[in-house]
Amino acid sequence: MFHLLLALALVLPTRSFAQDCGPTCATATDLSAALSGTTAATDAAALAAARKILDPLVTDGILSVADANALAADLAALDALQKAIAAIEALLKGQKWDSAKSEAHNAAEDLRKKVKSGALTADKANPLIDLMQKLWGVADAKAKAAKHSPVPSGSRVNSGYGWRIHPVYGTKKFHTGVDVPLNRGTDLYATGSGHIEDAGWAGGYGNQISVRLDDGSLVTYSHCKDLAGHKAGDKVKAGDVVAHVNSTGTSTGNHLHLEVYDAKGTRQDPKKWFGL
Ligand SMILES: [Zn+2]
Repeated sequence: MFHLLLALALVLPTRSFAQDCGPTCATATDLSAALSGTTAATDAAALAAARKILDPLVTDGILSVADANALAADLAALDALQKAIAAIEALLKGQKWDSAKSEAHNAAEDLRKKVKSGALTADKANPLIDLMQKLWGVADAKAKAAKHSPVPSGSRVNSGYGWRIHPVYGTKKFHTGVDVPLNRGTDLYATGSGHIEDAGWAGGYGNQISVRLDDGSLVTYSHCKDLAGHKAGDKVKAGDVVAHVNSTGTSTGNHLHLEVYDAKGTRQDPKKWFGL
């Protein structure tokens, strides 16, 4: 076994991830740490080289066929993982945070499946699964930071999402968004790049503007004063003023009623969504 490890150490190239990596350096360092002590095949050629060493060792009786196959499977698993890691790093560099999140999630799931099927041992897979979770966390934090707040910083929600007694009707109603008390005329902002889907009078909601973001989510601002001159189809980017605060429609005072729908059209709690 010692001969085998020595041979693998000599033949298999090791790849440095701690290179010019900008904001992802922390994760690249984690990656180096996680991979140190594991034998990594960087590409199909390295895998073929490993197989070349394994096969004669089987012939010489140093390795059983089962051991050789298990090692080859480990190497293949790590090879696929390294491709996934390269993809995640490219997505992070390209600031495609949501895609990086799903790539990291899929890679972790893939590792778990490999452990279940016996293609990879848990002690090898767990540090790599941890690493995938760290990469997911980095992408998630970046995704949250990339969102511009819809309201000026320091604004506080005074009526949350969910069941409540309606302030005008006095009956139990589901509050489909959050209320943020703000002075009349306060700027309201687009939370990312996208376009105006709707702008105009919306009954009880008063003057309302809806922004469809490029990621497919939808943000609506209600009880507004004016809609900053916007009309349906206008392009906006994060931080653009889309409306000003007022108390139009069914409302008891100057405030923003804010609603958010994810890309699938499912209503979300704006307080959680924007970290208000
Ligand atoms: Zn409301």
